[in-house]
Amino acid sequence: MKGKVEIAIGPMYSGKTEELIRRVVRRNIAKQHGMIFKISSDTRSKDDNVISRAGTFLKAKTIERSSDALKYLNDNLNYVAFDEAQFFDEELVEVVNSFVDFGTDVIVAGLNLDFRGKPFDNVMKVVAISDEVVLLTAVCMVCGKDATRTQRLISKNGEWIPASLSDPIFKVEGEDVQVRYEPRCKNCWKVGKWKCQKLEIT
Ligand SMILES: [Zn+2]
Repeated sequence: MKGKVEIAIGPMYSGKTEELIRRVVRRNIAKQHGMIFKISSDTRSKDDNVISRAGTFLKAKTIERSSDALKYLNDNLNYVAFDEAQFFDEELVEVVNSFVDFGTDVIVAGLNLDFRGKPFDNVMKVVAISDEVVLLTAVCMVCGKDATRTQRLISKNGEWIPASLSDPIFKVEGEDVQVRYEPRCKNCWKVGKWKCQKLEIT
């Protein structure tokens, strides 16, 4: 029988990793065997763990690229999990398909949209082949409604303003003191557009 694909998507601070861990723990209680993969460019945790913001963690395998996970295809695992799917390369969906064809269930967690409001293609391709999709929301830091988006803010002249559309997609919080992220609803989420040295909020 083919494997099942479950994916949890949402903005930052929506508990995606927490959800992945919850699903893995349930399977482990049911005496299933599996493995969690994370990509080496995920710099949030240096060791081989996946850690939720709530502090729960599980042992994970750090790999360089999606296809490295296929080394474990023949291990007859009941499930494999991919955390922070947006950091994986374009081959992720094919790797997921390989496990599914082999009969291994796949659990995925990842960001839905980047700070510009654009979908992560590799995550959305997995959504398209999933049997179960969960959209997690966080709390909008401006109005308190459900947040589905991630706001990137940059510090300029002592003021936090929306990042520009031309900024790089990945910027890890903490690496740069001038950048921070917060969850926001569609109405409160903003992206700045740099034009003629003047910041326009679109
Ligand atoms: Zn809001």
